[in-house]
Amino acid sequence: MELLPANLQRLKDQVAIVTGASRGIGKATAFALAQEGAKVVVNYASSSDAADAVVAEIVNAGGSAIALKADVSQPEEVDNLIKETVNQLGRIDMLVNNAGITRDTLMLRMKLEDWQSVINLNLTGVFLCCKAVSKIMLKQRSGRIINISSVAGQMGNPGQANYSAAKAGVIGLTKTLAKEFAPRGVTVNAVAPGFIETDMTSGLQAEEILKMIPLSRYGKPEEIAGMIRFLCADVSANYITGQVFNVDGGMVM
Ligand code: NAP
Repeated sequence: MELLPANLQRLKDQVAIVTGASRGIGKATAFALAQEGAKVVVNYASSSDAADAVVAEIVNAGGSAIALKADVSQPEEVDNLIKETVNQLGRIDMLVNNAGITRDTLMLRMKLEDWQSVINLNLTGVFLCCKAVSKIMLKQRSGRIINISSVAGQMGNPGQANYSAAKAGVIGLTKTLAKEFAPRGVTVNAVAPGFIETDMTSGLQAEEILKMIPLSRYGKPEEIAGMIRFLCADVSANYITGQVFNVDGGMVM
């Protein structure tokens, strides 16, 4: 990873929290925001070595990052994540709600705990993080919140009743918060990835999936991070709120 030259960095002195940034899309997002000069909180739940490696790569490139452990489905841990971020980095300008899990199985076999664990992290976790940063962002009258949804929340997907419901919920939450926060200059948008090459999709049958993707390939984590970077760093994004951006090779159109 290389930082942009200082005069081209658009997020200098700004602080971003990326949840679930130890790998996959979150890791690529941490790198993208760090390249723009942001100080990045690399949140993780259990992969401390991986999170430390992400931080080390950013710091070795001349950037600024810290790793903070927090299970973002737990209210006290979210409060602590926000408190520690402010203690160590002084402010919060961007929140990327990226942490997510799958517990896929057909409805007939889906246990209540499969449903609840996915809703607890993928939807309630987003609520908890948005609520915790909102106090800070509304007071400072600026902020960018990016929630990671999914095409599954728009189209549905067999075996993903829990995941699709959570990701559809994220879209409703995003639009409502966009309306509530707009008067204070805080924008809230969602990114809906299609199938992206990460650990989450590594066990899937590619052949059937590729038939659904007009561009005939999985996306790369950097391609999702690029959209998040645009929403966080580009001045053109100042006038964008309450939107869902599909980065999915044309799956949803
Ligand atoms: P991934 O490679 O499985 O990475 C998930 C990340 O979330 C890891 O850093 C993991 O850290 C973290 N995490 C898991 N549980 C957590 C918790 N309770 N609290 C905090 N962090 C937690 O996933 P990904 O494919 O990059 O997906 C990232 C996001 O994009 C998810 O919201 C996912 O639903 C969404 N998405 C992905 C795809 C895709 O095709 N990959 C498509 C659409 C949407 P630990 O290892 O420390 O737990």
